[in-house]
Amino acid sequence: MPRAVLFDLDDTLFDHYLCTRTALGVLHNRHECFRALDFATFEHAHGQYLEELHQSVLEGRLDLDAARTERFKRLYARAGVKADPEMVATAAAAYRHEYKAARTAVAGAEGLLTRVRDYARIGVVSNNVREEQEEKLRHCGLDRFVDALVVSEEVGAAKPDPEIFRVALERLACSADQAVMVGDSWAADIAGARRLGMRAIWFNRGRRPSPEPESLIQEITAFEPVEDAIEVIFGGDLPGAQGRP
Ligand SMILES: [Mg+2]
Repeated sequence: MPRAVLFDLDDTLFDHYLCTRTALGVLHNRHECFRALDFATFEHAHGQYLEELHQSVLEGRLDLDAARTERFKRLYARAGVKADPEMVATAAAAYRHEYKAARTAVAGAEGLLTRVRDYARIGVVSNNVREEQEEKLRHCGLDRFVDALVVSEEVGAAKPDPEIFRVALERLACSADQAVMVGDSWAADIAGARRLGMRAIWFNRGRRPSPEPESLIQEITAFEPVEDAIEVIFGGDLPGAQGRP
């Protein structure tokens, strides 16, 4: 039975997708020029720029604010508008405002962490900067469950690099075979954990087809009902809650 459960944060415990979608919806409604693109195209373009630019954030070449500004500069260009810096800054600030207002945990995350904590230590392993991720956890009331928050900014390595998982295991005082990783990204969370010989569980709330159907990686598609998720994480026979290390 695992002594530690590691979770990814964005789109595993924290609903980044919902926040992004809500903020983009407001901007798409508010700015006629963005409606040159239908919402799906607008959202897709934003997602693509976010992913590209987040790489620069992880490598320490851009901070989150600069990355967001650049993202909106590209979105204006994509919509065929030559935007001045003030327009870009206004849109980026409005996005940030709406994103923060929408911050929420993934459905069932709090209930799941409450139960996991009866049996194991909890780590959060995330490719991002500490301040941003701490704020999300705190805002959603999830920080009280977390024994170790390990972010790529501090480790200097991002998932799927085994180093970030190694640091998390060290902080939780357990070995790879005593831990399990739960995350939504196959490339970062599942592949990374497997490199270390750690069991991985794919959080697949979109019910996407597995990239490796033969791999026998277990899935959780929702954190509710909580006992179903607990069973996937810990297996059938759980000892009493006193088992917490
Ligand atoms: Mg994620």
